[in-house]
Amino acid sequence: MEKIEIIKPDDWHAHFRDNDILKAVVPETTRHFARAIVMPNLNPPILNRKDAILYKKKVEQAIPIDNNFKPFMTIYLTENTNKNELKKSFKNGEVFAVKLYPAGATTNSDSGVKNIEKVMPILETMAEIGMPLLIHGEVTDPKFDIYDREKVFIDQKLDYICKQLPELKITLEHITTKEATKYIIEGNKNLAASITTHHLALNRNAMFLGGINPHNYCLPVLKREEHRQALLQVATSGAPKFFLGTDTAPHFTKDKVSSCGCAGVFNATYTIPILTQIFDDRSALDNLENFVSKNGANHYEVDLNKTKIYLKKFSTPISFRENLIIGSDTITIFNPSFSVYWEVQNK
Ligand SMILES: [Zn+2]
Repeated sequence: MEKIEIIKPDDWHAHFRDNDILKAVVPETTRHFARAIVMPNLNPPILNRKDAILYKKKVEQAIPIDNNFKPFMTIYLTENTNKNELKKSFKNGEVFAVKLYPAGATTNSDSGVKNIEKVMPILETMAEIGMPLLIHGEVTDPKFDIYDREKVFIDQKLDYICKQLPELKITLEHITTKEATKYIIEGNKNLAASITTHHLALNRNAMFLGGINPHNYCLPVLKREEHRQALLQVATSGAPKFFLGTDTAPHFTKDKVSSCGCAGVFNATYTIPILTQIFDDRSALDNLENFVSKNGANHYEVDLNKTKIYLKKFSTPISFRENLIIGSDTITIFNPSFSVYWEVQNK
């Protein structure tokens, strides 16, 4: 049996939501991940230091005992974010990063940023203190086709921010296109990108295979195969500017299987087995640890994790649990519909 050992991974982009969903999904992340950046798009969003501290407590209460998982908290950037409070909360370790959602880009992002100019003074402060900016990189103007919104954001918004503030540490999150991979590679040293599990596993055909597949619908939406190949290339090459951010995003199954289904893929449970399979299929297992455990920590200038996980390859595919049960509701667990032979094991 084939076995590998890697530094315990981090998830640099996770949605834990709130209340019963939070209690159910946090242990799915803490099982295989040592740390996660926790997204602030609750309803209402996490807007300031006080919100972040309260939310962190709720997340911590959901971590199983004997697990040393560390949540890194974020706040939701608005035109009214207080710079002085931001400085203090970053220095105190209460808020790790700031998230920029263009208004209306995804779940609960209505209070996002409409005009980048208005937040530039806040971004300048962040550049001064070394605080990371996390970006949902899609324009929201409906005149742009949904498949082009990332590219247009890069051309119209990201390039402007990077040129104005080359010292600002930026993560373009959940990139989906070959244009994004090229922009990141050619961009300044403070610019990096996260990539999700599902954008590495699937192309846009997966949303329509044999009928509409709401569990493969996410934002940014899945793209053409040529884009997936570009993502695979940078992820499996070990290139230091690319790392895992799963964008695990739970919604109740009933809210996804609906006449206006929610965007989001809940992938925390099997992300590490799925990625190990993808890297194995490309003979790139040597670079798995860079992508899931090292590159992100290096970008964010935090220590690498000290603990390890062990992966074993079985001779028959592992079986996937279908869902998490929460009262009378369920959350469907992401299944990429290809065979996965790897599983995370205790030693
Ligand atoms: Zn997200």
